[in-house]
Amino acid sequence: MAWRFITHACGHQERINVDGPYVIVEQRVRKAEQSLCAACIGNVSRQDNRMDGFCALWGSKTQCDRAEPIRRRVLNQVDILAAHARIEDRDAFAELRKQVLRRDDAAWWIEHRNDAVNILAQDIEL
Ligand SMILES: [Zn+2]
Repeated sequence: MAWRFITHACGHQERINVDGPYVIVEQRVRKAEQSLCAACIGNVSRQDNRMDGFCALWGSKTQCDRAEPIRRRVLNQVDILAAHARIEDRDAFAELRKQVLRRDDAAWWIEHRNDAVNILAQDIEL
């Protein structure tokens, strides 16, 4: 196997596999040089989470990766429901939104990927 050290757009270096046809390898190298390294991509998505108000997820990396899009989808659902809610229900939806942001158990999100809104809503009597 042949390897080459490349420098990502963020300045971090990575050793990448340069086996294969020249054109493909050059594409792979160029793509890597134009993108952030894996660690920096992780940092960026964690920063996005902090900006949106999400807490850090608790669980294995695989669980967290699966849970992340689920809770983002659920937050979207809550925002859409809240936008159509009656004025007197607005506080309850604000509370529901907080519960979504605070729920930090990745396994819980995976288990409740289809009914998260209902389960959380039960606790706050919407
Ligand atoms: Zn980096």
